[in-house]
Amino acid sequence: MDVNQGDSPLHLPISVLKGAGKEAETSLAGIGVLTVGDLMEFVPARYEDMRLKSPVEAAHDEKVTIEGTIQTEPSVMYYGKKKSRLTFKLLSGPHLINVTFFNQPYLKKKAAVGDTVTVTGKWDRNRLSVSGQLLEIGPYSRGTDFEAVYLLRNAISLKQFRKLVKQAIELYGTYIEETLPDSLLNQYRLIARKDAIKALHFPASEEEMKQARRRFVYEEFFYFQLKMQALRKTVREQSGGISQKYDLVKLKELIDSLPFELTNAQKKAVNEICADMKSPYRMNRLLQGDVGSGKTAVATLALYASVTAGYQGALMVPTEILAEQHAKSLHDMLEPFGIHTALLTGNVKGKKRKALLDALASGDIDILIGTHALIQDDVQFQNLGLVITDEQHRFGVNQRRILRAKGDNPDVLFMTATPIPRTLAITVFGEMDVSIINEMPAGRKAIETYWAKEEMLGRVLDFTEKELRKGRQAYVICPLIEESEKLDFQNALDVHAQLSSHFHGKFTVGLMHGRLSGEEKDEVMKSFSANDLNILVSTTVVEVGVNVPNATVMIIYDAERFGLSQLHQLRGRVGRGSEQSYCMLIADPKSETGKERMTAMTETNDGFVLSEKDLELRGPGDFFGRKQSGLPEFKMADMVHDYRALETARDDAKKLIDSPAFWNGHEYRHLRAVLTDSGVLAGEKLD
Ligand code: ADP
Ligand code: MG
Repeated sequence: MDVNQGDSPLHLPISVLKGAGKEAETSLAGIGVLTVGDLMEFVPARYEDMRLKSPVEAAHDEKVTIEGTIQTEPSVMYYGKKKSRLTFKLLSGPHLINVTFFNQPYLKKKAAVGDTVTVTGKWDRNRLSVSGQLLEIGPYSRGTDFEAVYLLRNAISLKQFRKLVKQAIELYGTYIEETLPDSLLNQYRLIARKDAIKALHFPASEEEMKQARRRFVYEEFFYFQLKMQALRKTVREQSGGISQKYDLVKLKELIDSLPFELTNAQKKAVNEICADMKSPYRMNRLLQGDVGSGKTAVATLALYASVTAGYQGALMVPTEILAEQHAKSLHDMLEPFGIHTALLTGNVKGKKRKALLDALASGDIDILIGTHALIQDDVQFQNLGLVITDEQHRFGVNQRRILRAKGDNPDVLFMTATPIPRTLAITVFGEMDVSIINEMPAGRKAIETYWAKEEMLGRVLDFTEKELRKGRQAYVICPLIEESEKLDFQNALDVHAQLSSHFHGKFTVGLMHGRLSGEEKDEVMKSFSANDLNILVSTTVVEVGVNVPNATVMIIYDAERFGLSQLHQLRGRVGRGSEQSYCMLIADPKSETGKERMTAMTETNDGFVLSEKDLELRGPGDFFGRKQSGLPEFKMADMVHDYRALETARDDAKKLIDSPAFWNGHEYRHLRAVLTDSGVLAGEKLD
């Protein structure tokens, strides 16, 4: 983070330092160190504990520093070419320890029996020996307890780097400016930046090391959140949103007409969304809810509210199958209320498309449902008030912008059925408001999940056959092969062939995979929906949103290859009707985390619980898979480990951004400058 403005000496090139020649300059540039300031802000990868330790306290292979008197004359053995081993016995406290130094025969001249020495090296518990790295004559007298170790990628030696950092701090340390407001420093008793930098590289104690880290973690999160919160404020207030004065009486009529009672969580979400729509600010909200929690119902209510306010609504979903399903359910719900809905996908062409676009532009269509076909240039609304995108992580930020730009600052709602762990939601969607549906409609039967080893496949198929006999249907998901669509495809063909022969003459088996065209996929899906196919073998393309309530069995091959969130998504394809459903994971995980994942699946049906578990097992980088990460990178802070600091920093940043003092106060000029420099205040961020 560069908040040291203007001609601060911290911007001087490292060549001003003694010992930083041309060569060092070039190689340090390779690891991003150009200036004196860069050098000071280079974060150590770890610290080496230099404290005197009794080896018996140490773990096997741990690095220890011990002091003692030499008991036997150091002797050298030569072997191989130029190889040698020097050994002696050292009495350290009550312990007699074998010390060995490899390939440093010259040490023999330095030490003799009776000398007191300090040895640093690796402790071997079994042999009671230390494999020495450093020998110092005399009692323990190291200046520091902890030595910073940096990841230098062989740019220069560790010793040389430490010297440069030391010099930089000695010469220019006084120019390090404070970057956090006093109020926060005091509130959390954070040490000054100047002191923190020094302690970062040369901590005098373990406590100092901790304090330095604590300060930088907070600083990183705070700056990050400051940007997020400023972005939230600008998106909200930028050029004004529309205040949609919807008809509450009509909305209640629609709610009363539903064949079910809304859950409390749904009611809360509807209230939050409606309040946003009514406000003069533009809504920028994320609606999170597990598969089947009733998000579509909430979306439908919001769209209807918008229409009663005199606006049009749009619902964008990632696949044609989903678009058709949504179009049908919205039509069924809203047509009785005189609302005109329409479906626009790539399949709508020619005259039909033209007529549809005309009706849309003239305002005859109230709600348009579709795929990314919605964002084509010639799709013009008369008066777009609300845009909802489903499964929003499948659309890029740019696609969302284009859709939003089709109205005059319409309210925007994003829906996702991939529950996102709290930690990541704060970071990835920090600029949005969030509604969460954390409750399932009453009376849902929990899906029973089993984990079976491959040799139990026969029994799994027998069980499936029983369900099929009752008239139910089954999905079979094929192994996922990382990075190879070709193998995915091959696997699907194999599994399809096996099951076709296994169930030959009894049940029909369909096949779905990524190589089918959109139309072919639709065909297969329709046959399955119509119960013309009893079993559907598929790759993961079936993951999103598909609704076939009669399917009660989900079999997932090689389940250990999937992340928890994805397994949960797949499982969500069953359990959509009134019958008991089953999910069977065929897996033989070798790793502990693989086993933990399978167990977690059998223990809970709660997507939020699983998402937290997934994060814990896979780490933030892998959570969203290889397709999209969108995760910020922090130098010192760890989103998961330092979660509480992240939350605190978010609250502080939000409070500050919303206070008038921030925008005028002299003490905040630095922070404002950071926002301007990073472009946050100028407009909307792109990823
Ligand atoms: P999501 O979009 O979150 O996956 P849906 O909105 O598609 O969930 O809802 C799944 C099913 O549950 C639908 O058949 C819907 O009609 C039904 N449903 C929605 N809300 C309720 C509720 N409060 N009570 C009972 N059933 C509900
Ligand atoms: Mg509004």
